[in-house]
Amino acid sequence: MDSFKSEDIAAYFMPEGRLSQAINGYAFRLEQVNLAREISEVFINSEFLVSEAGTGVGKTYAYLVPAILWAKRMGKKVLISTRTKALQQQLVEKDIPEIIKVIGIECRYVEVKGRENYLCWNKYQAVISGKIGLDASELSFVEKILVWTQKTRSGDRKELGLPGDIMQHWPLVAAERRTCLRDNCPYSNRCFRIKMLRSLEKADLIVANHALLLADTLVEHSILPEYHHLIIDEAHAFDREAFDKLSLRLSYYEINDLLRFLASKEKKREKGYLQHLRSKYAHLAMLLTEAASALERFAYENQGLFNILGSFPGSGKENENAKVLKPADLRTPWFEDVMDRYFAWQENINLLLLVLRNLSKEIEDDNDRGQLDNIIQALQETSDTGCFVFEEELEKRGRIMWLELKQGIAVAVASSLVNIGLSLQERIYDRLNSLVMLSATLAVEEDFSYFIERSGLLPYKKEDRLRTLLEHSPFDYEKQARLYTVDNMPDPLHPAYNKILTERLQDIIAATGGATMALFTSRKQLQETAAKIRPFCEQAGIRLLAQYEDGEFAFLMEEFMSSSKAVLMGLETFWEGIDLKGDLLRCVVIAKLPFRSPGDPYVCAGELYCQMNKKNSFQHFMLPDAAVRFKQGTGRLIRSEKDQGAVVVLDSRLDRKSYGTVFKNSIPIKQQETISGELLTSSLQQFLNMT
Ligand code: SF4
Repeated sequence: MDSFKSEDIAAYFMPEGRLSQAINGYAFRLEQVNLAREISEVFINSEFLVSEAGTGVGKTYAYLVPAILWAKRMGKKVLISTRTKALQQQLVEKDIPEIIKVIGIECRYVEVKGRENYLCWNKYQAVISGKIGLDASELSFVEKILVWTQKTRSGDRKELGLPGDIMQHWPLVAAERRTCLRDNCPYSNRCFRIKMLRSLEKADLIVANHALLLADTLVEHSILPEYHHLIIDEAHAFDREAFDKLSLRLSYYEINDLLRFLASKEKKREKGYLQHLRSKYAHLAMLLTEAASALERFAYENQGLFNILGSFPGSGKENENAKVLKPADLRTPWFEDVMDRYFAWQENINLLLLVLRNLSKEIEDDNDRGQLDNIIQALQETSDTGCFVFEEELEKRGRIMWLELKQGIAVAVASSLVNIGLSLQERIYDRLNSLVMLSATLAVEEDFSYFIERSGLLPYKKEDRLRTLLEHSPFDYEKQARLYTVDNMPDPLHPAYNKILTERLQDIIAATGGATMALFTSRKQLQETAAKIRPFCEQAGIRLLAQYEDGEFAFLMEEFMSSSKAVLMGLETFWEGIDLKGDLLRCVVIAKLPFRSPGDPYVCAGELYCQMNKKNSFQHFMLPDAAVRFKQGTGRLIRSEKDQGAVVVLDSRLDRKSYGTVFKNSIPIKQQETISGELLTSSLQQFLNMT
C-alpha cells in the first residue's frame, strides 16, 4: 500500500495542504482530517466504517479525496451512493470536478440513474415522424426539446430544465424497459442508456443513488459493474429505503398500464399495441381476437382481486395509507375469498401469456416481436410476483404482507422483509472489501447501536471489521442555537391540542416575522393549521407556503428563499436535506415529536423484528427512529458558522416524558430551555436579537 497512505491523504486537508491552497475560503477542520484519515484506513484494511459527521465537518470532500486517490492509485472502482438526486447532481457537477482539479489527477467518473431519465431515440423518432398522435400540449413539449436532442451528449432529462407542467410529457420519449428493443433497436449504437452503462466499465468513480443501488441487487447486479468499495452518503434512512425498494409489490396501476399499452378504447376507437398488430398483420386476426378476449378476462379478474383486497374487515377509513395483514387476517373468510380471486387471477394471466406467446411466434418483424416480448416478460414477472406474494411468502415468519391504500381503495399488495439488514448483507455487504456509511445524523445519544443493527452491520462488528467515528459539528452551537420546549401545551392526543398549536404558531410567526419553517408529521394537521393561520399571515403581510396547498417542494423552496417574510409548513421531505444558510431560516418549529404512525408497514416490520429478537420495540425501534428524525429536523437550522436561530418544540412530551432526554441528548444544541407559551415570544425575540 506504499502509494496510498492515510497520512498522505490527511495532508491534503492540513492548513498548508492542497485544499487550503486551491479552494477559496477553505477552512481547516480537524474533524474533516480525522474522517478522511479513517476512510483511508478503511480502504487499506478492507474494513467497514459507520460515521456521523455533524453539519459543517465537510464530509463530502473527506470521502472524495480518499475515494479518488484509492480508485486511481490502486486501480479499484469506487461506488458512491446518495439518497437524493440533488446530492448526486452536486457531486458530479461541482464537488468531484473541483477535487479532481485540486488533486491534479485524471479521473473518470460517471453518474448513473434509472433508465427513465434518458431519452429513447426509438420513441423519439416515432414521435417526430408522426407515428404517434399528439395533442397540443404534447406537441408543445416536443417542440421545446427539438434543439436539445440535437445537442445533448448525455440524453439526461435534467439538462432540459423545463418546468414540471411541460415535463409531465417526458414519458413520451423516455427510455423504458417495456418498450426497449435492446439488440434489435435500430438506434442502439446511439442509445444514451447503453452508452452510459458501457462507460461504467471504464469509470474510476461511479455516482449512483440508493434507489438504483438497491434496484441493481434485484436484477442480479446487471446494471452496475462489479464493485468492491462502496460509500453510502445520506445513510441515515438507508434501511427504510431498502425496506421499500426490496419489497415485492403487485400494483394495480402498473398492471393496468401494461394492459392499456396492449389495448384501450378512446372515444369508442380501439387503441394500443394489439390494434397496431391488427392493422399490420391481417392474417393473424384470429390470434389477435383471442389475445383481446384473454386480456379482457384478465383485466376483469385484476379488478376483482383488488376490489376484494380493498374490502378487508374494518376497511373504509379514507385516511388510511396501508393495512398490514396480521396472521389472524389470513384466516378469515375474507381472505379465503381473496385467495379464490387470486387463483382465478393467476389462471387468467397465464392464459393471456399463452396466447401472447403464440402470437409472438407468428410475428416476423423483429421490432414488433421485440415490443411484444417485452410485454410478455413484464406480465410473466407480474405473475411471478403474485405467486411469491400470495403463495410462497405468505406465511413465512420473516415477512409481512400488506395492502397499499389510496382513499380507501387497495392499489397494491406487497410482501416485505422483517429483517432488511439480513437481505442487505447478502445482496450488498458480503460482496464488498470496504464500506463507508455516512450521515450527519446516525447516532442516538452518541451511540451507533441502533443504526448498526437496523442496517444489518452487526455481524461485521462481531468480526471486528466495523469501525465507528463520531465527529461533531465544528459550529459554535452554544452561541448559535437554542432549543425551546413549550411546557404548557396539551398532549398531542388531547382535543385542545390543535387549537393551542395554531395559537402558538401564530405567536411565533408574529415574533419572527418570517424566516420560519414549521415541520409536521401529519398532512391533515398541516392542512388544518395552515387554513387557520392563513388569514393572520395575509393580514401581517407574511407569505404562507404550505406543502401541497401552495405548491410542491421545489416551488416552495424557491418562493421561501426569494421572500424575506415567509413561513414554510412542510411534511417529511422538509425534515431533511434542506440547506438554508444565514437569515433565510431563523426558526424551526416542530409540531409533534416525529414518531412514525403505527400503521406504517415499516413500523410493523420493525416491531415484529424486535418481537422476534425479544426486544422492547419502543426502546429499540420507535424511540431511536424518532430521535434520528428529530435530529434531522432540528439540523435544518444551523447550516454555517454565521447562522443563528431557535428550534421551538410544541410537543410537551419532550419534557414530560422520560424518553424526552433521548431526543434532547441526541442533538448538538446544548442551550435548551423549557418555557411557557406566554413567555416564549419575548425570549425568542431576545435570542434572535429582534428587540
Ligand atoms: S436501445 Fe432501447 S432505450 Fe435505447 S434507443 Fe433503443 S429502444 Fe430506446
